[in-house]
Amino acid sequence: MIKFTNANIYRNSDATEILVKDGVIQQIGNNLPAAEEEIDLKGRLIVPPYVDSHLHLDYVYTGGGDDAKNATGTLFEGIARWHDVKKTQTFEDAKSRMLKGIQEEVSKGVQYIRTHIDVCDPDLTGLKAMLELREELKDNVTIQIVAFPQEGMYAYKGAVELMEEALKMGADCVGGIPHFEWAYEFGQDSVRKTVELALKYDKLIDVHCDETDDPMSRHVQLLNALVMIEDIGTRTAASHTCSFGSADDAYAFRMMGLFEQSQMNFIALPTENAYLQGRQDTYPKRRGLTRVKEFWENGINISFGQDSINDPWYPAGNGNMMNILDNGIHLAQTMSLPQLDVCLDFITFNGAKTLNIEEEYGIEVGRAANFLVLDAISPFEAVRQRADVLASIRNGKYLFKKPEPSYDIELDLFRSTI
Ligand SMILES: [Zn+2]
Repeated sequence: MIKFTNANIYRNSDATEILVKDGVIQQIGNNLPAAEEEIDLKGRLIVPPYVDSHLHLDYVYTGGGDDAKNATGTLFEGIARWHDVKKTQTFEDAKSRMLKGIQEEVSKGVQYIRTHIDVCDPDLTGLKAMLELREELKDNVTIQIVAFPQEGMYAYKGAVELMEEALKMGADCVGGIPHFEWAYEFGQDSVRKTVELALKYDKLIDVHCDETDDPMSRHVQLLNALVMIEDIGTRTAASHTCSFGSADDAYAFRMMGLFEQSQMNFIALPTENAYLQGRQDTYPKRRGLTRVKEFWENGINISFGQDSINDPWYPAGNGNMMNILDNGIHLAQTMSLPQLDVCLDFITFNGAKTLNIEEEYGIEVGRAANFLVLDAISPFEAVRQRADVLASIRNGKYLFKKPEPSYDIELDLFRSTI
């Protein structure tokens, strides 16, 4: 039995103690029974583990070579560069890069990842490596795999068959990229196929949807309608939807009501799309973000993801979800004081809802003792200070623990000059 004391629990300000036995939370409250081991958290904020709801693990660390150089900084050139890069991909190379990417994310407090894996590859090399890692690492990190046709479901010959193969092999979600197909009608066909495959194989849906500044890219409308008809909105996510940030207000108003009805999830990728979008604009220059603020204020579920770690689309990225949150709330202008108190939801609960893991996620009695200790005393302070993760605990055990931060700066030296 372990007792964590002096905790400030996110979304549960009444309790300060957590009692854990065999990796499961037994009690949450105050003045709980003594335990063999007691850990004083010194008033720090405890949050459920970070969820990265959108990442491409097969691409990580491929951004450095000449083949990967993306001169225009656009999504479309990134796809062309990846086409060349992946020709040299081997199973061992893919698996070792993926492992390193997962380690980077886990070292920043992520315990749940949804990764898209490109299935436009007759050998399905990346998928095979990812399936192995998902199993090998399941005690440390929960991974969902999206069968993702990066080069188009119809633009790439044989992609639909490869999608089906990937779903049979164990991918969790059906992906798509309708805005990349060669004609709008093919994009619409791909959305229909995505929903058809999800129903056929009983899988979740996560579509790269309208990742363009073109306000007429409106595939999200068909996706939303189809999943609403099938009543699988909560099992569906639309990633990016950048064009919705450029769309006409009358269309957006109509769609907002329909999104509320379908309860479909949205995923925004703030750093990635701030970098990739607006590339055809002079000034004013768009920042590539969907209508995050309006989704949030209308109760439509939206989470943030990292998307890329050093790949042909985006040179930076390190799995630090606090950095993603920081960028996202600035770009979305969701920084009123009440919003700052709850915006950690973007990288925790909202991501869990998108992944359909709500029943196992969160700091609650009877659930696995999975949580983070942040170097801050409140949600507001955590966001204001971009707080570091001091410890990540999974099934009651440390995935990592950092020493107490200490500083050698002699502040008295500065005082006389102020
Ligand atoms: Zn993506």
